[in-house]
Amino acid sequence: MCKTIIDKEGGFHYFLNMLTKEQLHTLHLLLDEEKEKLVARLKESRSRTDFGSDVDSFEEESDEAEEFSNKLGIEQLIEEKLENIEHALQKMEKNAYGPCEKCGTPIAYELLSINPESRLCKACKAK
Ligand SMILES: [Zn+2]
Repeated sequence: MCKTIIDKEGGFHYFLNMLTKEQLHTLHLLLDEEKEKLVARLKESRSRTDFGSDVDSFEEESDEAEEFSNKLGIEQLIEEKLENIEHALQKMEKNAYGPCEKCGTPIAYELLSINPESRLCKACKAK
């Protein structure tokens, strides 16, 4: 719906989406970079999964179990972040990247440059 307005009146573009092409490009690169890093970390973490093949004592075993649960927690965090990044990339493809998903206010570039996968504006995040 918004696209028709943009096509007819190019000037509206900056009102609906405060990001310039250059900024979008930078954010896209940031997302790609972050995605690559996270995928590599996830791969590395998963490749280290060996279920106590060299466990000698009970003590070591419980240590490993603890390490394993930490690892799962970290992997979950990485997966969640990856999901958000994927979501942001999809929004970019659909030309829907930029506005807050809750209130529709354009998210500040300052915030996006730190957290390009942000879904909410500063105000909604603080709520
Ligand atoms: Zn908002």
